[in-house]
Amino acid sequence: ELTNAVISEANKVKSSNAINKMNEENAIAFSKEMEKVLNTNSLLYGIPYFAKDNFATKGLETTSSSNILKGYIPPFNATSISKLEDKGAVLIGKAALDELGMGGVGLYSCNGIITNPADSNRIVGGSSSGSAYLVAKGIVPFATGSDTGDSIRKPASFNNIVGFKPSYGAISRYGLLPYSPSLDTVGFFTRNVEDMAIVCDATFGYDVKDATSHENKSIDMLNNISNINKSVKFGYIKKVIDDLNEKVKNSYYQLFETLKSKGYEVVEVQFNQELLDSLSAIYKMISFSESVSTNANLDGIKFGQRAAGSDYVEIITNSRTEGFGNEVKQRFLVGALNLNKENQTIYLNKAKQVRRLIVEELNRVFSKTDILIIPPTDNVAPLIEERKINVSPEKEYLSDILTLANFNGSPSITIPFVKEGKLGIGININAKPKEDLLCLQAAKL
Ligand code: GLN
Repeated sequence: ELTNAVISEANKVKSSNAINKMNEENAIAFSKEMEKVLNTNSLLYGIPYFAKDNFATKGLETTSSSNILKGYIPPFNATSISKLEDKGAVLIGKAALDELGMGGVGLYSCNGIITNPADSNRIVGGSSSGSAYLVAKGIVPFATGSDTGDSIRKPASFNNIVGFKPSYGAISRYGLLPYSPSLDTVGFFTRNVEDMAIVCDATFGYDVKDATSHENKSIDMLNNISNINKSVKFGYIKKVIDDLNEKVKNSYYQLFETLKSKGYEVVEVQFNQELLDSLSAIYKMISFSESVSTNANLDGIKFGQRAAGSDYVEIITNSRTEGFGNEVKQRFLVGALNLNKENQTIYLNKAKQVRRLIVEELNRVFSKTDILIIPPTDNVAPLIEERKINVSPEKEYLSDILTLANFNGSPSITIPFVKEGKLGIGININAKPKEDLLCLQAAKL
């Protein structure tokens, strides 16, 4: 009944472009099959969800919202999808994204733009746009996402929902179509922190198919979510909070007072401003470069729709020219330029060195505080036509600040914070790498 009800609700929002593909028949068959072996031990038993369309799903079209992958049906499941299936979660369909995970807006899916469910003049955010939309709209209680720069945590802020990027390697990336493997992280959207603990408990762990995955010490998170240690320290970067608009800034300072009144220590930490200012550039250098190599197999020959052409080079050129959207092409161009031998030395290797400095700065910060609080966005979801008009250049670093946690692999969660009518602005909470439980405990407070 639940599966049928969710399928019918999902079909009602089809015009939103948030859904790339429904999994109706399989979902119903799977639910019927499960009825025979009622397993009440799993909290995910029979719970419906959507997967971002860059997760490989066996027998179900997986396109990453790119024309080049139209018709691609993976012969295998991503490990995270298999684990959810083992727990009895029901895959309702695939959620749209900014093509190949590239973008933070929801305007770059090959199937059309996705707008904010609370206000269609505003962006929903991305790249996990469809997943955020479907959870915010109440169609499903959770959806998978991937986060390379902020693709879960920023849309969570724009949509008043919970979005978690666990530690790098906490969840296997096997079967997640890669964008930038040194940054890519599997995560989720939910409506509350307890649900997040449930889906993480189901999917965390080492996977022999992903050499970067690890056995996380954060296990049984649901049962431990309220047991936060009273000596946990909360930290914030004063300049970052002071650069926010008056209302949001005041909300942060009020929160710090509340935390203090509950007995927690709240500390101000320093962060090198030059490094903060470099985040956007370093993110682009690293992710665009890696994306060129990870997507080289989408050439119309090994993978992807094949365009006409008289020889190998022409087929590849035409397939890629027809198959990719503009945002993707721009990123490949910049990335390819960086991978040119000479440029690697002058640009890419330097970017990697600066990434190292950012990680060292974060290590220093986490020697002073257990939790780092960051604003995921400085405002509500922008209007579609205004999204390019930015705040003053000195504050531009705020728009890419969430990438910090991708550089060092920290767990990082966004939860609803300031309400503005139907819209809202989230707050983002980070902990040391592998301290995922602590991150969720802090969010639960
Ligand atoms: N805003 C980032 C970008 O445009 C987010 C991408 C991601 O995390 N997948 O690349």
